[in-house]
Amino acid sequence: MNRFSPFETSLWYATAEKAPETRELEETVAADVCIVGAGYTGLTTALELARQGVSVVVLEAMEAGFGGSGRNAGHCTPTFTHYSLGELRSMLGEPWAERLIQRQTRANDRVAAMIRDYQIACEWQQNGYVMGALQPSTHRTLEQKVAEYNAVGARTRLIDADEAREITGSPRLMAGWLHEEGGHLNPLGYARGLARAVIQEGARLHTASPAKSVEREEGKWRVATPNGAVSADKVIFATGAYTVDGWPKLDQTFKIIRVFVAATQPLSEETRRKVLPRNTTMHDGRGDIFVYKYNHEGRIVASMFPMGRRGRDIAYTRQVLTDRLKWLHPDIGEEIRWEYLWFGELDMQYRTVPRLYDLAPGVVGLTGLSGRGVPTGSMLGGILSEWAMGVPEKELSLRLEPQRSAPFYMGFGPQLSLRYHRARDWLSAKAAGAPLPPHA
Ligand SMILES: Cc1cc2nc3c(=O)[nH]c(=O)nc-3n(C[C@H](O)[C@H](O)[C@H](O)COP(=O)(O)OP(=O)(O)OC[C@H]3O[C@@H](n4cnc5c(N)ncnc54)[C@H](O)[C@@H]3O)c2cc1C
Repeated sequence: MNRFSPFETSLWYATAEKAPETRELEETVAADVCIVGAGYTGLTTALELARQGVSVVVLEAMEAGFGGSGRNAGHCTPTFTHYSLGELRSMLGEPWAERLIQRQTRANDRVAAMIRDYQIACEWQQNGYVMGALQPSTHRTLEQKVAEYNAVGARTRLIDADEAREITGSPRLMAGWLHEEGGHLNPLGYARGLARAVIQEGARLHTASPAKSVEREEGKWRVATPNGAVSADKVIFATGAYTVDGWPKLDQTFKIIRVFVAATQPLSEETRRKVLPRNTTMHDGRGDIFVYKYNHEGRIVASMFPMGRRGRDIAYTRQVLTDRLKWLHPDIGEEIRWEYLWFGELDMQYRTVPRLYDLAPGVVGLTGLSGRGVPTGSMLGGILSEWAMGVPEKELSLRLEPQRSAPFYMGFGPQLSLRYHRARDWLSAKAAGAPLPPHA
């Protein structure tokens, strides 16, 4: 099996705006900065630099958005997925933690501004995000989130069962965490719009141009592609989970785990009035996550992690998705058909925060986004462009660290963690007498 899942099977591939015209690099060109990888991280870095008059060449092995940026579920929630802010502070230390928290919690302002400034047609809607509580133990976590995120300036609040039902249409939630700045979009449309903006700002973007090697030559870095080369002062690898070639062992700095996303048929207006009437992004609050919202055609787009048969047996996978959705919305009232189902890869690192590697003088690589990449990749462009502009290392928002392989347990750790959280939710729901969703 190919390491990467097929790209063309997603709903986004069928519905996103067209990619800008680009071509393979077939000559040698000079630039201040060469960026490898045209996902959100590489493209927003290029955009930031080009706007400041820096000459930039972006090299992309396939096409803009080919990686996670073109196939994700499209939720754009400016938070950290796996850790509380307190845990992040003790893990990263200051001033790194506070700087990263400030950037991540304001990432949606940045996303919204880029979409507005470059008129990117990507179904962007900032209708908020609700993480539900299906049992008392989750309720306590949500209270902590309100306190932590509001203390750093986010607009979030705890909602009771009635308000949760009004916003999401689900009678199952005993409470919820409403993050008003949460949004969602067509991820491939966003990536292609960023690619267009990068070109509009004067940077060069070459697709079908994988960086094969990087060597020092006459005081510059020579990044070679099959039929051309870029001679640059600085090189940034923003190749994420889809890293191929380029820099030795960069693809060992993370382990891959797969995620799947599925989309229903367009649902009737009557259903849409009852289910997610405000088209908020809904996370059901379980450790074994189920997150969903509508695209512009009224299809529910939902994502989950594979586990056991789920993800391997596609008919069963569709059934699990339907059962979970119908349990959360018992009055859905129409047959659900999952017309699209596709997979993608995540670059998981231990501590699940992005890692900025000091690969050589003038060369950095960034991997390990670990799953919350729409806002994160978009905000990382700010950090990488500062590095390229010569901002001193101690003033950056990520610490530069030596290249290091991901620990072997990251290959199975996330799956174990998923099973642990599922079991924990099961026990806590049983203890509280709370109803359990099917397949729990
Ligand atoms: C199925 C799925 C669902 C997800 N859902 C969400 C979600 O709902 N919300 C959210 O916030 N995040 C989500 N994520 C995570 C998010 O999509 C990623 O973290 C983010 O897109 C990573 O962006 P990136 O720019 O770092 O990397 P990528 O988008 O992966 O881009 C890297 C690019 O580098 C290119 N490349 C690799 N090697 C080379 C080379 N040698 N030369 C030239 N080019 C090269 C690749 O072809 C690729 O285009 C999801 C991810 C997946 C896979």
